[in-house]
Amino acid sequence: MPKKTFKKTKSNQQAAKDELEEPRNKAAQLHLLKGMKDILPDDQDYWNFIYDKVRELGHDYGYGQIATPILEPTNLFIRTVGKETDIVEKEVYSFIDKGEEDVTLRPENTASVARAYIEHGFVAKSQPVKLFYYGPFFRYNRPQSGRYRQFFQFGYEALGEDHPVIDAQLIALAHKFFQEIGLKVSLQVNSIGCPACRENYLQVLVNYFRSKRKNLCDDCKRRLTKNPLRLLDCKEAGCAEVAQDAPQIVDYLCEECRDHFVRVLEYLDSMEITYNLNPQLVRGLDYYTRTTFEIWPDSGETASQSSLGGGGRYDNLIELIGGRPTPAAGFACGIERIIIQLKEKAIDIPRTKKPEIFIAQLGVTARKECIKLFEQFRKEGIKAGEDFAKDSIKDQLSRASRLGVKLAIILGQKEILDGTVLIRDMENGIQEVVDINKVVQEVQKRLAKLNEIDSPDQPIS
Ligand code: AMP
Repeated sequence: MPKKTFKKTKSNQQAAKDELEEPRNKAAQLHLLKGMKDILPDDQDYWNFIYDKVRELGHDYGYGQIATPILEPTNLFIRTVGKETDIVEKEVYSFIDKGEEDVTLRPENTASVARAYIEHGFVAKSQPVKLFYYGPFFRYNRPQSGRYRQFFQFGYEALGEDHPVIDAQLIALAHKFFQEIGLKVSLQVNSIGCPACRENYLQVLVNYFRSKRKNLCDDCKRRLTKNPLRLLDCKEAGCAEVAQDAPQIVDYLCEECRDHFVRVLEYLDSMEITYNLNPQLVRGLDYYTRTTFEIWPDSGETASQSSLGGGGRYDNLIELIGGRPTPAAGFACGIERIIIQLKEKAIDIPRTKKPEIFIAQLGVTARKECIKLFEQFRKEGIKAGEDFAKDSIKDQLSRASRLGVKLAIILGQKEILDGTVLIRDMENGIQEVVDINKVVQEVQKRLAKLNEIDSPDQPIS
């Protein structure tokens, strides 16, 4: 059989070359998806500051932490958030998975928490069941400052109780959160009643907006039949102007809903929490009943585009997804927007502990000794900076200076032979020889002294 030869044509060679280069080219082209962000180390102090506060308040107010999956059945959101909402109509990331199931990346968490409440039989526990969470959420909307496709929220939900004190305490919790992180906010509060009193109101509202139909945007013309409450918080200038004079829902509340709302406000007054009654505040989602509230930055902005958080009562949600009728209330806040505010207002936040000392080494044996020393310091809670991959002492010491440490531990060939280390005072450059076995205690002593000099005790007056 004649031996088959394979002669590479130029294009074959090119194809092989392309194939080889493909991974590199592909890597060069890859980038973040639109509306998504990497959260880099420099920013993490902000995130941890917020998570710490969320956990602290959760603990103080008796909320247990819950983490639900990021992926849920699409129906969960269609049934709860509502088919006619912007979220479900335009914004959800939904797809059919490999098992032919219609699934959705969660656009919010209340529905998932309610699902978990039913699924884990929380109804049998003493009520209310109080839960808090934080994590990523997904909405396919037009990205802009403070609006992303993946964003993070934290939230608190109190399920199984309809007493107005629950609503008031949730609002107080939101208020405390912002007060304690140092941000001034304004609280917007309203009640949108129950389905019974809302029915009358919606008729009056639709009649009013119909009479102004020509001034409404196309979305609002559609909302007139599909989701009329949303006409009240449309951002289009024409619609907002019409909404200003719209009939107000508080005038149409049934006796029970009015009484509930009045009591919520009384509790807020008794806690001396300042709020703004906002008849336009309807919230975007179908499942809200009675109390609604939002947290706005205190900078005169009124657009809910800039709202930092919001929530309210959702007494019908659990029944909507197959549970027994269960009253509940909660709120969620957007973490990115809070961080934008913290930065804009230059609020001081706790920073990650910086290295207190630096360990520098010269030579193969010294490096081995130094990586062990590093562990010893770490065990004693002393954070050490290092640059163990470098050979030059000069480079290492200049890094130590950049880190701003007060002491550097230096270990070279001579010190290894003598069983010693040098402790260098980075301020005046004075170096002292210390027994290597005593270096940790010696450094502890010196740091304590230096810290004392930095923050002397206040004289007793
Ligand atoms: P909502 O679940 O729509 O009531 O939103 C609650 C909070 O989450 C808002 O007040 C915002 O702070 C934040 N938020 C909502 N959507 C986004 C988004 N697309 N990007 C960033 N933050 C958002």
